[in-house]
Amino acid sequence: MSNESQSIHDFDFDLICEYFSSIERQGPGSPEVTRKALSFIDNLTDESRIADLGCGTGGHTMVMAQHAPGQITGIDLFPRFIELFNANAARLNLQDRVKGVVGSMDNLTFQAEELDLIWSEGAIYNIGYERGLKEWRKFLKPGGYIAVTEASWFTKDRPKEIEEFWMDAYPGMDTIPNKVAQLQESGYVPVASFILPESCWTDHFYKPQREAQEHFLKKYAGNKTAEAFIASEQHEAQLYEKYKAYYGYVFYIGRKISDLKI
Ligand code: SAH
Repeated sequence: MSNESQSIHDFDFDLICEYFSSIERQGPGSPEVTRKALSFIDNLTDESRIADLGCGTGGHTMVMAQHAPGQITGIDLFPRFIELFNANAARLNLQDRVKGVVGSMDNLTFQAEELDLIWSEGAIYNIGYERGLKEWRKFLKPGGYIAVTEASWFTKDRPKEIEEFWMDAYPGMDTIPNKVAQLQESGYVPVASFILPESCWTDHFYKPQREAQEHFLKKYAGNKTAEAFIASEQHEAQLYEKYKAYYGYVFYIGRKISDLKI
């Protein structure tokens, strides 16, 4: 197997965690996009309960907290990300409203109908988009919102190289109309969907990684796992540059509808 065909899952989690801890975001996005998605959510008050699933170090969570009322719980599998998340909240004096907790998105401990909003940027793929939408729904109050970003195809057909890369990395990737239909079929009214601008990948995700990569390769000179991991990150960034007309991240926002009895 060449380095380039290795997926992120094949690498040592501690190394991945260290690498991504050094950058502000662990997935594509931007403060502007977080605010735009928030503009579709109209049910929030100081009493609202919000969960941010797969929050990472909370780059976007802090933006959300600065632009929306309510109590926010960030959940992530990696303790180091949660440490940084809580440090970020404290640095911005948000610690009374924003708390990071180590946990898994496939084993959540919220009460039924406890949440007003479920947020997840660049993370629902870990459980799978449809599974996440369906399993998390019970935690939302009727009328509560879900807002997630998900890698999606822009076209019905695309070049073989990029099709194969993503079908291997994330077989759940699909077109925007299919993702919107899945949102509806999972028990939500589709409220909005919009494509994240290219800068969310280039300026906010891949560019900060270039510096981190230099540092990382110096620190781990000669470490084959670290070198292969960086090579795979660089390969992904090159593919994005080459094929960005065919795919990107999309925000999907839905509102929970009461159980239908048809
Ligand atoms: N939302 C952040 C991080 C996106 S990267 C951002 O946009 O910057 C995906 C995140 O999902 C990582 O932080 C990873 O640790 C987390 N993750 C992976 N599997 C998870 C699981 N089962 N439960 C919770 N978080 C998980």
